[in-house]
Amino acid sequence: MSTIQEKKPASMYDNVMQQYYKVAERINLNENIKKILAITNNEIIIHFPVKMDNGDVKIFTGYRVQHNNALGPYKGGLRYHPSIDVSDAKALAMWMTWKTSLAGLPFGGAKGGIQLDPRDHSLAELERITRRFTFALGENIGPEQDIPAPDVNTNEQTMAWILDTYMSTKSSSQRSHNQHVVTGKPVGAGGLEGRDRATGFGVYLSIKLLLAEQGKSLKGKRFIVQGFGNVGQWVSHFMIQEGAKLLAVQDAHASLINENGIDVDQLIEHTKPRKGSIQGFIGAEEIEPKRFFGLDCDILIPAALGNQINQQNAYDIKANIIAEGANGPITGEGENIILEKGITIIPDILCNSGGVIGSYFEWLQNRNGELWQLEEVMRKIEKKFSENFSKVAKAVEEHQTDWRTASYILAISRIETAYRQRGIFP
Ligand code: NAD
Repeated sequence: MSTIQEKKPASMYDNVMQQYYKVAERINLNENIKKILAITNNEIIIHFPVKMDNGDVKIFTGYRVQHNNALGPYKGGLRYHPSIDVSDAKALAMWMTWKTSLAGLPFGGAKGGIQLDPRDHSLAELERITRRFTFALGENIGPEQDIPAPDVNTNEQTMAWILDTYMSTKSSSQRSHNQHVVTGKPVGAGGLEGRDRATGFGVYLSIKLLLAEQGKSLKGKRFIVQGFGNVGQWVSHFMIQEGAKLLAVQDAHASLINENGIDVDQLIEHTKPRKGSIQGFIGAEEIEPKRFFGLDCDILIPAALGNQINQQNAYDIKANIIAEGANGPITGEGENIILEKGITIIPDILCNSGGVIGSYFEWLQNRNGELWQLEEVMRKIEKKFSENFSKVAKAVEEHQTDWRTASYILAISRIETAYRQRGIFP
């Protein structure tokens, strides 16, 4: 039995800043706007006490970083992980600004989380931690201010607790106007049908659309996935529906392979009573974690944490396509090696934007007091995602560059236009 060390990744912040300055130079971004986008507007750090099940009080540290809101309210996930800190939250908030801009949404970028390992806590403790953090955040979040969503180790239940706590601070006549303070809620609590699968669906669509550009299909393609949570499970689900084969999967606990293809439904069932872990699945063989990225496959989908693909393992990669389900899974050095090998990277800000597109529809649904059916939602996500994909594909041709650079050019240019048109107050 082997386990993967959940070590804190090297700085994702360095990575995002490097990506930003590279494109800012290339498009000759206005110097003043360059200064504004290089900083985060607000960095909120909250230390708060919570009573544990045994009666002891424990102090937790939570973060909410709001990078930019030139295009609309701040938007981004909340992550529960021992490694989250202000530097990671800054990087992830910045990626959200680029992502919402690229997707053509009326949102800015934010990210946050609480430094903890959810496996150390009961459900009742997690509820109290979430509610106390929400209360402490106060009006720093809000349906027209900053709208959290699920991320690593948070889910629709977490969003329901935030919603309920936030709404409890409002007068009864105001409560229904505040349902869109979070997205990714359970459907019964005002959530959107299909928001659960939106990110994985977008990742799958991006691969399908890229292959279609090359005159190919997903049929018979071998893919590997790192991370088997919300994103990893749903992308695998959609990929095998189109005839692709899940060769291998890795999570925080194990790395599994089956040359004949892993049964995705059975693996999902296996994880349910095991707090999401794939360990001990009998439909595949366990391998050394370090072999994972070098496996012989067509498509690699990182869908776990940042900085997983780096100088040490980038040379080994055999896939032709890397679809970034995770945010910032490849370091700058890793990326240089990969691009030199001729591998296409579908960048996070495009690849996993199905999630925030779904969140936008949830926000609109609540704001307008509407209720949409699953088919309608999936159609809307597919249309919006495909249009964005085509814009990036066109920019790749026009600028003769890689997909990340093309995505950044579009994302930053849209915000630059907004600043140019509006000017800077006062
Ligand atoms: P999740 O908590 O549901 O799943 C995370 C998975 O990663 C788990 O299977 C976990 O075991 C695995 N993992 C953790 N550490 C690992 C390690 N060191 N090595 C291998 N696997 C490891 O989280 P999620 O919501 O699926 O998010 C995954 C990634 O996708 C994150 O980078 C997140 O920011 C990004 N993302 C998520 C959404 C969304 O809607 N949930 C949207 C956009 C981007």
